[in-house]
Amino acid sequence: MHDHADGEPKVALITGITGQDGSYLTELLLAKGYRVHGVSRAPVEAATKRLKRVLEVEPGDFSRITLHAAELGESDRIFDLVQRLRPNEIYHLGAQSHVGQSFEAPFETLDANARGTLAILDAVRRLQTDASIRVYQASTSELFGKPRHFPQTEETPFHPRNPYACSKAYAFDVSVCYREAYGVYVSNGIQYNHESPRRSLRFVSRKIVHAAARIAAGLDDRLVLGTLDVGRDWGYAPEYVEAMWLMLQQPEAEDYVIGTNEWHPLSELLEIAFERVGLEWRDYVRTDSHLARPAETGRLQGDYTKACTQLGWRPKTSFRDLINLMVDADVRVVQQEQSTP
Ligand code: NAP
Repeated sequence: MHDHADGEPKVALITGITGQDGSYLTELLLAKGYRVHGVSRAPVEAATKRLKRVLEVEPGDFSRITLHAAELGESDRIFDLVQRLRPNEIYHLGAQSHVGQSFEAPFETLDANARGTLAILDAVRRLQTDASIRVYQASTSELFGKPRHFPQTEETPFHPRNPYACSKAYAFDVSVCYREAYGVYVSNGIQYNHESPRRSLRFVSRKIVHAAARIAAGLDDRLVLGTLDVGRDWGYAPEYVEAMWLMLQQPEAEDYVIGTNEWHPLSELLEIAFERVGLEWRDYVRTDSHLARPAETGRLQGDYTKACTQLGWRPKTSFRDLINLMVDADVRVVQQEQSTP
């Protein structure tokens, strides 16, 4: 598909390209004929290696990807990059995205997530008289924190409960500010948790499925978690990057809740994951309150009616299928590790 006005392929810039969403979005955009530029903090060679390990694309497709090394908060570097590339679309996914880590490293979280978003928006503002650039901003259900109502919609008030959510609240607000004050085309996807076999092992979904696979293989005998007294609205990541793309194809920039409108307790995730490998989770899972976070979120459950009506987007993969496919992928990972001398 070559749908850029002058017949050239569209150009996208993805920050956080080496992350879970960045990799799926790269695959989606390549399939749609885009040229993809990506930003990583890592040196280009290392980031390329990382991306090549995860991407499922034809080897020739790599010629349509170019990586650039930059820290998100480096506003001059980000401006130079955007000015040089003049992308049609920017997907701003780069972030310190781990809630638990944000309690440990609040300043780094603020720099990457708040300053990083401002750097992108301000570059677009400065260039917008001679370049039309659309921005996707990766907002999060964590903005709702401890909501009084569920499910949440675009109208639900924010109540961020951790440094990650606070930094993302700034990113959300400054996006709306640049949209209203300067006419910058920027859409916030208020996305609920989305998972996949590419999720980092630091996140609880992947931690659990990986542990189930290792315990089933006899490599571990327990899994220790901070608390069982939590739950989430969990969806499948490849479907969530599709929503990002759909948002930027709309005539007007707007904000959308992207979730499944289902809430599942952690115990259900554990049950499905361990059942998949023929085990009973209660025999292996322990809690240690030292691992618990200083504050937890309430019942986060995303009503995606607006996205469904305006974008035609809806989640497709059920919670059970999501956990099963993640367990199956980790069973293969563990088998490969075992067969590699
Ligand atoms: P991810 O896997 O953690 O990827 C984010 C990427 O950001 C990293 O790979 C890293 O790439 C880059 N980065 C830049 N500065 C960083 C810093 N200071 N610390 C850590 N990483 C940094 O995240 P994701 O799951 O793909 O999520 C994409 C975006 O959506 C993020 O903004 C996240 O906050 C948001 N979001 C995610 C979810 C979810 O459930 N996945 C839900 C709502 C919102 P380099 O190391 O190559 O620089």
